[in-house]
Amino acid sequence: VLPIQLGYNTVYLLDAGGERLLVDTGPNYRGAAEALEHALVGLQPAAVVATHGHLDHASLGSWWQHRGVPVWLGAGDLHLARRPPLTDPAEFREMTRFIESCGAPPEVQGTVLAGLEERRRALMRASAYRGYQPASDGRWPTALRYDTFEPDRLLDADGDLAGPDIGCLLLPGHTPGNLVVVDRSEGWLFSGDQLLRDIAPTPAIQARPPGAPGRWRFPSLPAYVRSLRRLAEFDFARCFPGHGEPFDDVARVIRLNLEQSEERTARVRAACQEAPDATLYGLCERLYPRAVRRRLWQIVSTVQGHLDLLEEAGERVPGSCSG
Ligand SMILES: [Zn+2]
Repeated sequence: VLPIQLGYNTVYLLDAGGERLLVDTGPNYRGAAEALEHALVGLQPAAVVATHGHLDHASLGSWWQHRGVPVWLGAGDLHLARRPPLTDPAEFREMTRFIESCGAPPEVQGTVLAGLEERRRALMRASAYRGYQPASDGRWPTALRYDTFEPDRLLDADGDLAGPDIGCLLLPGHTPGNLVVVDRSEGWLFSGDQLLRDIAPTPAIQARPPGAPGRWRFPSLPAYVRSLRRLAEFDFARCFPGHGEPFDDVARVIRLNLEQSEERTARVRAACQEAPDATLYGLCERLYPRAVRRRLWQIVSTVQGHLDLLEEAGERVPGSCSG
């Protein structure tokens, strides 16, 4: 395995008995393609598999295709390859309605809606301009550009990717079509954003793939937790994450993530019992009184995720938030 660091991301070139597979396309900042080219001289992969459709994992998809390398993606993320999140007007309307109905005071709502609009504009720019925008947060040298693409293969089941040992597991949650790559003979896990050393990825408020049944919102956290439980059934020797250094205590990191999630669910359950008629914002205020105004979007996403978990378990949750 050859790790290649590209700003905040790491992509991995696997050699399965001469058949090369790249895990993640790499983030498309200015200079990223050249850095990849340089790292992979004489090592062109036969295919690239993106762990999910987010910009930092899939935005060099079209660049690879122009070089004649097919790009594979989980079927549930096709909409993300075709159009960055939030840039679909229908999705943006649903997201706005969600915020307007969460019970936050108007000025708080205004701040969140302005932030959402800013994010939408940035994503529109990422896919509309040929140039590279200045860096916004220092994770990559410039902001990421996204040339949308049609994946060459949509992965809709666990299966083989390269050689006898390299396969994928579909693990929805972080996104609807999220997947991980495994090397069964080595016990290696290429986890994308599903498992990171020091961060439990916040489950985002995000749309279901177009045409999928059910309400517009994809219940990210219940799916993410199910996926973590599935990973816990394997005995991995090493995890190569999409961000940060590889680590060996894979089972422990999975367990800590699950425990943290269970603790939060218990806190949200207690808050629901104390205030059965609270709005989503009211619950957020109870649970995170100091941070709620500063980090509302993150907190709302987290609390809504745990409400989704409770609801799935058949428990009564405040139902005031549309979505
Ligand atoms: Zn991601």
